[in-house]
Amino acid sequence: MSPLRSVLALALLTGLLALSAAAVTAADPKPQTPPKGATVLFDGKDLSGWTSMNGKAAEWKVTDGYVEVGKGDIRTKETFGPDFRLHVEFWLPNMPEAKGQGRANSGVYLQGRYEIQVLDSYMNETYQNGSVGALYGILEPNKEAQAKAIKPPEKWNTYDITFHAPRVDPQGKVTTPGTVKVVLNGVTITEGKFDKVTGGAMDNKIGEPGPIRLQDHGCKIRFRNIWIQKLDQ
Ligand code: MG
Repeated sequence: MSPLRSVLALALLTGLLALSAAAVTAADPKPQTPPKGATVLFDGKDLSGWTSMNGKAAEWKVTDGYVEVGKGDIRTKETFGPDFRLHVEFWLPNMPEAKGQGRANSGVYLQGRYEIQVLDSYMNETYQNGSVGALYGILEPNKEAQAKAIKPPEKWNTYDITFHAPRVDPQGKVTTPGTVKVVLNGVTITEGKFDKVTGGAMDNKIGEPGPIRLQDHGCKIRFRNIWIQKLDQ
């Protein structure tokens, strides 16, 4: 090969390497660093801040910086609310033979009562208010935004959820609806108001603080890097 050709070949190779490195980074980003002042709920090491719903030790396995769905839902020991921002990263196994809600399915319950759906919605039709990012059964994600945000399975995804709980009077009746905004992989997909709990809520005590709860729907979903910031009311 002539010297010029060698130089060109080397330049091409370097370019290709840089491109492939960028592709890897884009496809599988590193866990995001929690901002100052955030409370870290899961740092990839252990579930010391979590229990099963019955208060016993959480039966989910922690490996390589993530936790995989195990037996039963788990919840934080601490409770939160009424206003917070939650960051959660999740990874969905590939289950091509399963359809709709049967595909990789879990959920992030805010205050143990309001499920933000976790579902593999990549080329997987289901009712829109049960797809990834929905406030399950109540608020549906915007379809176009969702299509931009969704990744195929076996990639790490991020949720950044801003939550304001409904306000209630002394009798527990909702006086001001809650609001929720779900950002999936940097794209706002769901935004709206609500005044009731979703299916599977741990209780109906709207207006009271509650834990962050992760759902066991029988699929090996992985979670990592979970943190929360309290917001001013
Ligand atoms: Mg679910």
